[in-house]
Parts: sequence; C-alpha cells; structure tokens
Amino acid sequence: AIRLVNVNKWYGTFQVLHDVSLTVERGSRVVICGPSGSGKSTLIRCINRLETHQRGDIIVNRVELTDQLSKIDRVRSEVGMVFQHFNLFPHLTVLDNCTLAQRWVRKRSRKEADEIAMAFLERVRIPEKAQRYPGELSGGQQQRVAIARALCMNPSIMLFDEPTSALDPEMVKEVLDTMVSLAEDGMTMVCVTHEMGFARQVANEVVFMDGGKVIERNTPEAIFSAPSKERTKRFLSNLL
Ligand code: ATP
Ligand code: MG
Repeated sequence: AIRLVNVNKWYGTFQVLHDVSLTVERGSRVVICGPSGSGKSTLIRCINRLETHQRGDIIVNRVELTDQLSKIDRVRSEVGMVFQHFNLFPHLTVLDNCTLAQRWVRKRSRKEADEIAMAFLERVRIPEKAQRYPGELSGGQQQRVAIARALCMNPSIMLFDEPTSALDPEMVKEVLDTMVSLAEDGMTMVCVTHEMGFARQVANEVVFMDGGKVIERNTPEAIFSAPSKERTKRFLSNLL
C-alpha cells in the first residue's frame, strides 16, 4: 500500500505539490490525470524517491521515505516504474535489458535471470524479440519490454507515467492490454494516463490534479458521469 499525507514539494521557490494526500491500497489501482504541468510526474516520482519531497509523509509498504538510503533501496526494490519514453538501454539486447538489474541488484545467476526474463517476455507476448535491440522494435514493443523489465524485479507496486502517450495510436492498445492484464492479476498500480477507457476498465479511483493540488477524486463512474468541480468537467470534456 502507498500512503501520501499532505505532501509538499518545491523546485527552488516554485511550489509544485500542495498538500497532496493519496492512498493506494494493496491490490488497487489509481489513475492520475490532469493538465500538463499539474505535477503528476513529480508526484509519482516522489513515490520511489526519484524526486524528494520537503514536507508531509510518504509511506510505501509500511516504510516511511526519509533520507535513509537503506529505506530508499528497500522501497525501490518493491516498486517498478514505466516511463513515457521506455528508457531501455539501446546498446543491450531485449533479454539483457531484462536481466541486468536482476543480476546486479537481485544477484541472480545468468541462467536464472534469463529464465525469469523469458517468462515475462512471454507474458507481454514478445519472446521472439529477446535477441533484438530496442531500436529494432516498434514503440509498443519497446514499452512492453520496459514493462517486462520492471516485472522481472518482482515489484509489489507498479508506477506508470503516461506509458502510451508517446505511441502511435495503433500501438496504444497492445500496451494497455498488458496493463489491464496486470491489473486483473491484482497488481497495485498508480498510472498517470489520459486513457479514460483504461481508467473506466481498471481504476478503483481517478484522481484529477491541477496546479499541484488534488482537485477531485472519485470512482471512474462518478467522476466521468458527474464531475463535481468545474475544472475537472472542462478537462474531461476536452479529452473525450
Ligand atoms: P505533463 O503532463 O506535461 O507530463 P506533469 O503534470 O507531469 O506534466 P510535472 O512534470 O510534474 O507535471 O511538472 C510540474 C511542474 O513542475 C511544471 O510546472 C514543471 O515545469 C515543473 N518542474 C518539473 N520538473 C522540474 C525541475 N526539475 N525543476 C524545476 N521545475 C520543474
Ligand atoms: Mg508528466
């Protein structure tokens, strides 16, 4: 589970997050949406300490995020992240992308890491690309590799930051299908996305942010059919 309580963050003198509170229970899925610059990426990057917050509490699987390095390592080892721009290592094959951290962080043998990687590449339905390089794959395929790579570390929580927004429309579905299947398996997920069909299908809660604040949160049914805030209404009507 993830618990954020009154989280505040500044970039220099610019306050990017204002008293953001958020709870993601184990096995539940939260979708975060909101206009560009509203602090969505900053928020989820705080959850695995790619960014630091200055005030408030962030607790991930009962570990409170502080400056203590051992705690940060512990949280990172339980949280997988998938980015908009895949962030695969271009000079490594798909298989090596999926085994690098397993071998160096999890200390798995090459054989064991390979087996685990192949199992997850099967799971995202591209085992045949194992010996290819990222540049030889489509965007949708690269994103599925990025998901497989994260899963190889056995995370209990997955964070997604606009995983489909850099993809051509015909590739969006294959990535969303992979995410839906993860959700159906009960993965705890926080997804920044504007794919409202996906939100409707899997989200327990949709959180709308603007200006570094949580403006509104509700079930997808409620927020899509009757947003209570004018700002949410305007934003959603532009999406659909
Ligand atoms: P987008 O939808 O465009 O991805 P976002 O909601 O993810 O936007 P953030 O990337 O979290 O927004 O950025 C929130 C605000 O913080 C923006 O105004 C941005 O310019 C600012 N910001 C982000 N990163 C930094 C940084 N490293 N230093 C200073 N300001 C930053
Ligand atoms: Mg962002």
